[in-house]
Amino acid sequence: MSEITKPTDKKEIFGHPQGLFYLFFAELWERFSFYGMRALLTLYMVNVIFEKLVERDYATAAVYASYGSLVYASTVVGGRISDSILGMRNSIFLGGILMAVGHFVLAIENNIAFFLALSFIIVGNGFFKPNISTFVGTLYKEGDPKKDSGFTIFYMGINIGGWVAPLLCGFLAAKYGWHYGFGLAGIGMLTGLIFFWSGIRRGVFGDKGLPPENGNINKSVAGIKQGTLVSILAVLAAPVIAYLLASYKSLGADGSMLEGTNIVNLLFYIIGIAVLGYMAYIMISATVDERKKLFAAILFTFFMTIFWGFHELSGSVITLFAARNVDLEGIMSAAQTNSLNSMWIIILAIPISMIWTWLTKKKMNPRTPYKFGLGLLFAGISFYILAISESSANENGLVPFAYLLLMYFLISVGELFMSPVGLSKMTDLAPKRIIAFIMGVWFLSSAFAFQVVGFIGKQLAIESTDANIGGFDTLGVYTDGFLLIAKYSLGAGVVVLLASPLIKRLMGNVH
Ligand code: GLN
Repeated sequence: MSEITKPTDKKEIFGHPQGLFYLFFAELWERFSFYGMRALLTLYMVNVIFEKLVERDYATAAVYASYGSLVYASTVVGGRISDSILGMRNSIFLGGILMAVGHFVLAIENNIAFFLALSFIIVGNGFFKPNISTFVGTLYKEGDPKKDSGFTIFYMGINIGGWVAPLLCGFLAAKYGWHYGFGLAGIGMLTGLIFFWSGIRRGVFGDKGLPPENGNINKSVAGIKQGTLVSILAVLAAPVIAYLLASYKSLGADGSMLEGTNIVNLLFYIIGIAVLGYMAYIMISATVDERKKLFAAILFTFFMTIFWGFHELSGSVITLFAARNVDLEGIMSAAQTNSLNSMWIIILAIPISMIWTWLTKKKMNPRTPYKFGLGLLFAGISFYILAISESSANENGLVPFAYLLLMYFLISVGELFMSPVGLSKMTDLAPKRIIAFIMGVWFLSSAFAFQVVGFIGKQLAIESTDANIGGFDTLGVYTDGFLLIAKYSLGAGVVVLLASPLIKRLMGNVH
């Protein structure tokens, strides 16, 4: 872990602090590793890890959901440890190294190694992701109008990684083998760390991101410095998490899968109840104005959970749908279709933010609840497009690629209506004293969303002993499911739009 500091380098690039561009590339490469691996994950589980199970889709959906939930939930813990002990720089280094270890362990073909690898990525992401995002904010003075565009640039970095990685990792996996794909993801993560490290060497972060001044990092517990203890515990947490991930099933005597107690599911019920309970407690002690705003923040987080719950199907059910029922016409492989969301975000992010600025000038920029309602409608329409693709299937039960492309276009528009807007509203709606907690809850919305993904994935799991399932049988299962999702999402969108005048009132002066 590095603690090198140099005086702040005041140089700017495109009017932004130089440090932004080091964080941009560090995050670009970290997301490269994250999404490169994610593009392969579901297909790897179905075709390799659970190959012999009749219920391999089911097992894959369960593990994918637990992985996704924990990868986002761990950010709450990583954020807190950074605030009280490590500081952002050390957290980013620790997280990056753990993630790289995870990716390289994935390159070992063994089931135990597989669960262990996912666990390293979960713990690593917990330290890396929240801290690099917060780090961006610290580069700007409070109220600096450039901060928002700084975040837009940063979001671009995320999506450049998310766009390129599935293409390259998918290509390597198909041509040379899964482990080359996973290996490239690991190299991507190391590249990210090198960018971050070179930023520190050049002093572009000034004194930002150092451990908190309380000096906890050097205080000892049981003779071990807290900073070292955190690293040791982070490594020890990995096998425990691996055990939780593997609790998706128990095997019957004949090798068939029996439903075991999924500990991760259980854990999320408990976390959900605890968070709601704590929220209720905060609401009781808040002033009337704070209470209203908090209630609005809870509603937005809830709507976001619904949206991500459908959106994050891209790495699971939609990847399987692409593999089994989309005529990819040699354009790209199923793993590579994971790049489409990020591709659209890169194309659409700037035009959409320009539309908001233009509408603001005309005093017509819709308030947040309307954007959320529209975002859910876009998600609904996107799934409706996939549902009706069935009517254009060829004789092998394959639907044209254009449907998938259009689906990703629509859901990406929805994402831009909700995700960046919601993030900035959270900071406006939460009372200052609990802002960190509310941001944690916001990240938890992605974690809970993966429980939705798991639920849907299990409903749409196809039982088979045949490696090449596809055709009209699976097409019908998927498109029926997509139609149901479309109805729920459209329904939710309409409800949010109808409730918008009320939600608007809760928000007071926040736009
Ligand atoms: N695509 C964004 C990222 O990777 C957001 C993902 C999410 O919160 N579910 O950072």
